[in-house]
Amino acid sequence: MTEKTGRPKFSEVKMLETVCKEVQADGRITKVHRDKLSPIFGQRLEKALEALGDRRVKKYVFQPSGRIVWIVVGKEREYLVMPAAEYCTCDDFYFQFHQGHLCYHIIAQKLAEATGEFDLIEDDDQLFDILIKEWKTTEVRVSKKHESAAEESTT
Ligand SMILES: [Zn+2]
Repeated sequence: MTEKTGRPKFSEVKMLETVCKEVQADGRITKVHRDKLSPIFGQRLEKALEALGDRRVKKYVFQPSGRIVWIVVGKEREYLVMPAAEYCTCDDFYFQFHQGHLCYHIIAQKLAEATGEFDLIEDDDQLFDILIKEWKTTEVRVSKKHESAAEESTT
């Protein structure tokens, strides 16, 4: 019996991960890699490469816990990318996901990790909850601001 990968998303992830390993070995993205990725990702690859070129991929490492958060800076806001889950907080993610595709932020994150073309930012754990809240908020809140002292701790 042969196993078939019916879900397109799976093959996209697999393809991307395979090429990322090659990229990592070569230390950079070459034409060979682009030629493999381009037919699958098309415009999304171009946008991902643009994000890499602009250094819009950021890796936050929170200390002392060592928690890692990947951020891709988009046109209007910053997007939280979870590489292990192939998850992103952008609006496009749901749309792409249902079509079996990855959004370009995830592609950018994976390529950035493979090439090392990202900004490494170390922050204190105390900032983690605040930043996560910001990244997960899909709309800008215009309501009154509270002092941080009044904020209740949530986990
Ligand atoms: Zn996204």
